[in-house]
Amino acid sequence: MSAASDSDFPRTIDDVVIVGGGLAGLFCALKLSPRPVTVISAAPLGEGASSAWAQGGMAAAVAEGDSPEAHAADTVAVGGGIVDEDVALGLAREAAPRIHDLLRYGVPFDRDLEGRLAVSREAAHSARRIVHVRGDMAGKAIIAALTEAVRNTPSVRVIEGYVAEALLSDGGTVSGLQLRKAADATAHPVIVPTRAVVLATGGIGHLYAVTTNPPEASGLGLAIAARAGAVIADPEFVQFHPTAIDVGRDPAPLATEALRGDGALLVNGRGERVMLARDSLAELAPRDVVARGVFAEIAAGRGAFLDATPLGPELAEKFPGFHATCLSAGLDPTRQPVPIAPAAHYHMGGIAVDRHGRSSLKGLWAGGEVSSTGAHGANRLASNSLLEAVVYAARIAEDIDGQSFAAPSRPHTAEPVPRNCAMPPLVEASLRAMMSSHVGVIRNGGQLAEAAQAFAAIEQDTGNIALRNMATTALIVAASAWSRRESRGAHERSDYPAEDPALRKRTMTTLAEARRTIAGMARAATSSARRSLGA
Ligand SMILES: Cc1cc2nc3c(=O)[nH]c(=O)nc-3n(C[C@H](O)[C@H](O)[C@H](O)COP(=O)(O)OP(=O)(O)OC[C@H]3O[C@@H](n4cnc5c(N)ncnc54)[C@H](O)[C@@H]3O)c2cc1C
Repeated sequence: MSAASDSDFPRTIDDVVIVGGGLAGLFCALKLSPRPVTVISAAPLGEGASSAWAQGGMAAAVAEGDSPEAHAADTVAVGGGIVDEDVALGLAREAAPRIHDLLRYGVPFDRDLEGRLAVSREAAHSARRIVHVRGDMAGKAIIAALTEAVRNTPSVRVIEGYVAEALLSDGGTVSGLQLRKAADATAHPVIVPTRAVVLATGGIGHLYAVTTNPPEASGLGLAIAARAGAVIADPEFVQFHPTAIDVGRDPAPLATEALRGDGALLVNGRGERVMLARDSLAELAPRDVVARGVFAEIAAGRGAFLDATPLGPELAEKFPGFHATCLSAGLDPTRQPVPIAPAAHYHMGGIAVDRHGRSSLKGLWAGGEVSSTGAHGANRLASNSLLEAVVYAARIAEDIDGQSFAAPSRPHTAEPVPRNCAMPPLVEASLRAMMSSHVGVIRNGGQLAEAAQAFAAIEQDTGNIALRNMATTALIVAASAWSRRESRGAHERSDYPAEDPALRKRTMTTLAEARRTIAGMARAATSSARRSLGA
């Protein structure tokens, strides 16, 4: 196939291509320097990346009295019994050197009066170990510093405004990418031959109608890897943030957990505290427990609200972002409770990778939220995701740097490039609504089967490649959630409310396996209909 090209697309491309301009992608590009590398990003750097929105910071056992072993133990404790302990320890041990890299790239982490890194505490951490920047500005500051570093690194070429929509392969080895101009569904695809692809495309939150993630986090990276045959790990495990502000914004703004730490309460529409009867820690219970409490109140029709009035007039000064967001939506949080909803926030699952960030496909690496390293298990410990992004980005760079590739050949594509249609907004909206209602905080087999089959139908019928890729990821998540007949970590099944010790293991699946599972659901539904008709 000849390479179609856009007039503003470079004629040559490097042998290493990183897809994604968030923390994982930028850090990997800098670590590969001076080796030439091309970074492709759907959005301009600094935009369209969850990394830039991170508020809390990065977990690192750098304070006196803390240790990587204690950090790893906390990571294992929240992960629902399926965290890979070696992976968690490796992550914790490499935190300090990676923080020093970030300092070298210009990230202005907060320091105490003696000049040591200032660390704060977050839920389920047994020590103060979150490094941060100007309170809650960690993500913005990290991405600003790395963007500048990348722009000043001649070996890194950045191509913004292109979306990767397929991986191309040659005899089982990844040999290139199919890209298309973002926001122009009918533009010609661009075929780029390359020897090593690093997917750093972030999470899947935007597959849900209610999410804290940017629109670019719609699972496209996971889909293109899965469609090329990559093994996908733990896709059913999605973390929901319990307190997204529910004022009809997409993405939904976050009400930070620190508000509850300072005395804000969770109440229903009748003014009753919703967490008191559910957990002895009430508002300060683990994130997944609170998310289920909030979800249950909304599902029962009583509504859920964050009552920050106990914080008094200091609220505006202490939480200016939250205060301003509420005011702009016509709500005064110093006087009235604010409506909230659980929102899809973080994907523990992703492209299965080994300790070098290698996927199951030759020539394909994955880092950051699109990958699944085994560090998070069924539930992520707060502030471990930025850490994982830099640790694995550095390992991927080291692994790739140790290899030499022949010049990229012309890629072979398995399928001809189809004509792309415009995104059908109603179908996209219905997919996202179904992810929230059927594959959300509390799940059951019937709804998961319904959703998985609906996503498979969208995947098959749509003429829009982005929607097809969204449906691919959605069906893998729904099919794996259906197959895991137990409740574990962030995966709660109302029809299987207990943990099953026999299922205390990670999921390893493929798109082909998910499709077989869905075909089995359809067959089971047909035979049960026949039985009830007495046929
Ligand atoms: C509101 C919020 C607060 C958070 N707070 C914290 C926190 O305090 N601490 C913490 O550890 N974690 C936090 N997280 C999670 C953390 O931010 C993410 O897990 C992490 O930043 C992911 O980094 P990444 O590089 O993998 O992906 P991202 O930063 O999301 O970057 C993905 C990149 O890929 C691009 N892209 C996506 N698809 C394509 C495609 N098909 N083609 C081309 N480009 C593509 C995007 O445009 C973007 O540039 C938070 C997340 C959110 C949403």
